[in-house]
Amino acid sequence: ESVSGPELSMRMFEPLEKLGVENLYGIVSGIEDKGDYKVVKTGDEEYQTKTVIIATGAKHRHIGVAGEEEYNSRGVSYCAVCDGAFFRNQDLLVVGGGDSAVEEGIYLTRFANSVTIVHRRDELRGDKHSQEKIFAMPNVEFVKSALPKSIKGDKKVSAIEIEYKKTGEIVDIPVDGIFVAVGMIPNNQLVPDFVNTDDAGYVIADETGKTNAKGFFVAGDLRTKDLRQVLTAASDGANAIKSVTDYLNEI
Ligand code: NAP
Repeated sequence: ESVSGPELSMRMFEPLEKLGVENLYGIVSGIEDKGDYKVVKTGDEEYQTKTVIIATGAKHRHIGVAGEEEYNSRGVSYCAVCDGAFFRNQDLLVVGGGDSAVEEGIYLTRFANSVTIVHRRDELRGDKHSQEKIFAMPNVEFVKSALPKSIKGDKKVSAIEIEYKKTGEIVDIPVDGIFVAVGMIPNNQLVPDFVNTDDAGYVIADETGKTNAKGFFVAGDLRTKDLRQVLTAASDGANAIKSVTDYLNEI
């Protein structure tokens, strides 16, 4: 069984509403630390609070080629687990050369007629064990040192145009679906400067969600972690609430 993040959130949220837990909506424009209390600013309100849990997640990086946005959800996807089953017996292509691309490629072989992985370098990066697994799969092909140039189609995707970096040759590969797996970008715009992040911009915290800044916690994909999934995000939520409760009992 699978469930999307928003669907699971709503299922968990509805019982809270019935219990009378207060919730407020607003687009947050800034978060400040005033020592004893924090301020969360929205367009026209300011909320004072003792603790803040930031859970703004991460988004999939796009490749930025012509046709990518146009065919998003019409053959272009960023999540094999979410969309793979819609492409049964079709010819699919994955863009990327890291662990996500390999993982997505392996997953798609369950449904696809064929899977082609297009990578801009000669060698994949990441876990060698998963690479050996995918190299041994009969319906997986690799196109290396190749850059995606554009995504083509009519009502839905029909081909991807790629350029071979070494020769400059440009070719169309006919495909029914394109899975983009070129990394994630953390949504860290609201993270105050005094909260430590790693080089990629993820907030540094273990599963307790505690950051370096007192009273500031993080949960979900925005945190430094190995596995960014709905399941681990939900677990982070429970852990962060426990940490907040402990913190409030201590101050
Ligand atoms: P990643 O390791 O950053 O790899 C992104 C890949 O996409 C790279 O090969 C990169 O090429 C390529 N790329 C980036 N921009 C591109 C563009 N515009 N056009 C074409 N190719 C582009 O990201 P990831 O694979 O999502 O993995 C992120 C982290 O999660 C890693 O630490 C990974 O180990 C971890 N992860 C682990 C697992 C697992 O353990 N099962 C599964 C998934 C992810 P270059 O190689 O040339 O930079």
